[in-house]
Amino acid sequence: MGNTLWSRAAVAGPGTETTSARGTSAAPDDKEELQDASLEIVVLGTGAGTTHAFSGEPSSSFVVLKGGKPVLWCDVGYGTTYACMQHVGELPKHIYVSHNHGDHAGELPVVLAVEKKAAAAAGLDPPYLYCHPDVMAEVRQHRLRELRSTGEPQELFSTFRETLPGCTTFIGDTGLAVRPCLSRHSETCYGFVLYDEEGEPVLGWTADSGYDEELYGDVAEAAVLLLDARAEGSQEHAGFHELPRIAALPYMSGKTVYITGYGRQDEAPGREVVEGLGMRVAQPGLRIRLQGSAGKQAAGKQAAGKQAAGKQAAGKQGSAGKRAGDTAAEAPAAAAAAETAVAVNQAA
Ligand SMILES: [Zn+2]
Repeated sequence: MGNTLWSRAAVAGPGTETTSARGTSAAPDDKEELQDASLEIVVLGTGAGTTHAFSGEPSSSFVVLKGGKPVLWCDVGYGTTYACMQHVGELPKHIYVSHNHGDHAGELPVVLAVEKKAAAAAGLDPPYLYCHPDVMAEVRQHRLRELRSTGEPQELFSTFRETLPGCTTFIGDTGLAVRPCLSRHSETCYGFVLYDEEGEPVLGWTADSGYDEELYGDVAEAAVLLLDARAEGSQEHAGFHELPRIAALPYMSGKTVYITGYGRQDEAPGREVVEGLGMRVAQPGLRIRLQGSAGKQAAGKQAAGKQAAGKQAAGKQGSAGKRAGDTAAEAPAAAAAAETAVAVNQAA
């Protein structure tokens, strides 16, 4: 079953979405798939600060896959490790943390402790941690303090890589790179722009942020954007009522925008609302194909026809979700199928 999913992902066109419903089977390891340079992300969760503690749903997080292989885990908040095993089948060895809130970094100490041990047993390096220098200092001082109980220095648990502002930092030998983008948040927080092997921007992510045109302009270097918004906005989180303003920003034209960070699945913005703005809703298990330079021409055409194709896309997404959700017992209507598959994922 795993192979079927990965194979389909590898041949899917740019902008294609599917919803995964994986068990804990291993990630693909056959050579053909590793040579594939296709990029996509798998959304692990959309939770806010209280979400996992009170509902059990995973915090906001996603994994970048290259050629079907998980290479970069973005935010390691409460509930995301289990979600990562569920949707991706393994934990990527490269980890980017946007800020030190529990719903973005809460599981980092235990992940480093366990993965370091497993890596050592296999003769491999411990995980690599990427953060803006200010965030790195906060994470190491406050979050990773509990590693003291091991009696070992922090340096044994991770290779710490600071992502300097205005610079791109390579993610190991993946060929991918990130450039941190300052968000508007109570804690020092940086989203990023992700670049492919050719240096083309493929994903812009705000991480947690209040409405911030400078940030939106910054991440809009990429064609696919992951933005933070929730029902009730504040200084540190954009609100759904601000989505029309964001959609109307000149540099948002032609972008594929996903909303995340809204909390539980029943707190998601109405599909009809976001699609009217040309936006989409991220949900656990959703796989989003990223476009590199190769997909650029197609992207231009796609963007032009995007609004008109909105309704069609909703139907398509639904049926893709239904196919992917191979454990889904029923999918009552095409438009709701993706959500059905997600519910099954969470129950799994
Ligand atoms: Zn936060």
